[in-house]
Amino acid sequence: KQVLLKHFIPEGAPKETDMELVTTGTIRLRVPEGSNAVLLKNLYLSCDPYMRPRMTKHEDSSYVDDFIPGAPITGFGVGKVVDSSYSDFRTGDYVWGQIGWEEYSLITKPQGLFKIHHTEIPLSYYIGILGMVGLTAYVGFYDICSPKKGERVFVSAAAGAVGQIVGQFAKQFGCYVVGSAGSDEKVNLLKTKFGFDEAFNYKKEPDLTKALKSGSASSCKGLSLTQQMAASLHYPQMRFGSQLVSFLCKGKVRYFPEGIDIYFENVGGSMLEAVLQNMRIKGRIAACGMISQYNLEKPEGVHNLFLIVSKRIRLEGFVIFDHFGSYPEFEEKVVQLIKEEKIKYLEDIVEGLENAPAALIGLFEGRNVGKQVVVVSRE
Ligand code: NDP
Repeated sequence: KQVLLKHFIPEGAPKETDMELVTTGTIRLRVPEGSNAVLLKNLYLSCDPYMRPRMTKHEDSSYVDDFIPGAPITGFGVGKVVDSSYSDFRTGDYVWGQIGWEEYSLITKPQGLFKIHHTEIPLSYYIGILGMVGLTAYVGFYDICSPKKGERVFVSAAAGAVGQIVGQFAKQFGCYVVGSAGSDEKVNLLKTKFGFDEAFNYKKEPDLTKALKSGSASSCKGLSLTQQMAASLHYPQMRFGSQLVSFLCKGKVRYFPEGIDIYFENVGGSMLEAVLQNMRIKGRIAACGMISQYNLEKPEGVHNLFLIVSKRIRLEGFVIFDHFGSYPEFEEKVVQLIKEEKIKYLEDIVEGLENAPAALIGLFEGRNVGKQVVVVSRE
């Protein structure tokens, strides 16, 4: 079974009818004689927002290659080696990397495959927290954001694959962290599971600029003295002086009364405009992604870009494919965090290759809660 992209999609949200599940003839579970290749049985597939731009034909392919209409969709995945003519990969090894949306993939360029050494950790983590997604959070936060202890960090799409990890890195680093997400369930997860200091449902905010500055009236109905004392212990950097007073102003949570030092940008559009209004002088924005723009033929304009000049903001885009050199250092640190249970990770698991198109589409509707994973086979 394979999932093909039927045709390019010039604009709009992808639909299930843009993709097709086909069954090919019987295949021989051996690498063809005389060829250099690795044959994989695919176990887990990753659904990632960057797959949407690949469904549109581009003249300039400086980001990622377009998919090929009529061919299987490709993306990150985890597989088990069935046969290999490369000595680096042996039958029975588990690998992660770029594979096809199909039950078996014949990989002729295995430079994009990485052997999984920590098989004691759930294998699906290698398309999430221990794969491209986790590395994006790691490089994006530590390198691109240049954080300092005590700084105020805002993360959009915070309950998704990248966002949940960024928020936890920022907390571990000693920052104050607020996240936005598109449902109350996700907001609750951010505060109770992932340890964000605050979170809000951006779909319920009529004015995002005001929401970032003064918080949501519905997020706090007034804090008791005990709660205020607890908050002062929770945010030691705000324990004394006017910061705490303004933070708890009139008994309401105020997310960024003194502005945002770091914005981890995942969505773009109106959220970016609202954030620019609220950035502090010399703030940093890590432009990781802008999912609100991926289904549009022409991206929306951002009207207040001069604020980058007047506030001396550093806005830096990055593409994780340029940073795979940091993988060994990242893997060592994050494997340790997982083993010591010092980091939480949430997957949204869908069973069956036939359900992969709907799962991918769900990213653009906010249906995924956590990292979207498709199970092709569990062994
Ligand atoms: P997520 O798991 O966060 O899934 C996408 C989420 O985006 C949805 O669940 C939804 O959450 C939110 N969303 C969807 N449409 C919109 C919209 N119109 N406006 C606002 N939010 C929307 O995905 P990832 O964590 O994998 O990716 C997050 C971002 O990081 C993406 O922009 C992606 O392209 C980027 N990325 C960039 C990389 C790089 O190399 N630069 C590498 C990997 C990812 P909600 O319910 O909160 O709306």
